[in-house]
Amino acid sequence: MQVRRTLPQRERSLIGAWCFLDHYGPDRVSEIGGMSVPRHPHTGLQTVSWLFTGHIEHRDSAGFHAVVRPGELNLMTAGRGISHSEFSTPDTDVLHGAQLWVALPDGARRMEPTFEHYRPPAIGGDDSTLRVFLGTLAGSTSPVATHTPLLGAEIVLEPRARLDLDIDASFEHGLLVDTGTLQVDGTLVSPAHLAYLPVGGTVLTLVAGSEPVRLLLIGGEPLGEKILMWWNFVGRSHEEIVEYRRQWQVEIGVENPGDPGIPPRFGAFPPGEPASIPAPMLPTVRLRPRQ
Ligand code: MN
Repeated sequence: MQVRRTLPQRERSLIGAWCFLDHYGPDRVSEIGGMSVPRHPHTGLQTVSWLFTGHIEHRDSAGFHAVVRPGELNLMTAGRGISHSEFSTPDTDVLHGAQLWVALPDGARRMEPTFEHYRPPAIGGDDSTLRVFLGTLAGSTSPVATHTPLLGAEIVLEPRARLDLDIDASFEHGLLVDTGTLQVDGTLVSPAHLAYLPVGGTVLTLVAGSEPVRLLLIGGEPLGEKILMWWNFVGRSHEEIVEYRRQWQVEIGVENPGDPGIPPRFGAFPPGEPASIPAPMLPTVRLRPRQ
């Protein structure tokens, strides 16, 4: 699958604690083969799968098994370590959505892994529909707890609709335009682009162009921590990432057995699943933190 990665990028690594944003589709599964991501590890982050079209089957080493459907939050918390697989379902014709990651703050990043599901109500008026999956917006609050102040919502606007939203001035925000052309506080944002708004704003004004607009609005208080991201891991030091990688390779059997006294980090997986994805080689230079 071809993905449009708008976060991290050279100019920006984080929006609040949001540290990764991949946007994909719409893709016809018969042409691109769908999503097929066998078991792989994560540390120190949460993943959000948000679909516009299609279904994805999720399975993880914390024992959760879920079908991800459009308009529903599926939040996997890796904490100290988890492994999971993601496959588009056989009945999926078109796959279209986004994968987002949230960096866990230092106080939460070693927590036990878990998984949460929430279907936000559709709110709004005649010409706008909002689904608030994390945080609070337009009077709708997600019951899913976050580890830093955070916002995540899908917004759909009818052509020429105008929406004024009260936003938290302590948050920075990002707007990923999926379809249509949007004016954000007077600036034009094209499809597949990510707009960034620094802290300090109290009202966000969205105006749709001549076509319907669908966007994802993310936000949060600046994380204020230096993080390291490499492959599927978020950590705080080069050595920590090297150790996560080593443990994963040992646990899936592609490197020498580890110290039997060290408990597995990435959990057990049911037998009969496709082979796990081995980690790529580490770069020859030291990994550097992002801010
Ligand atoms: Mn993953």
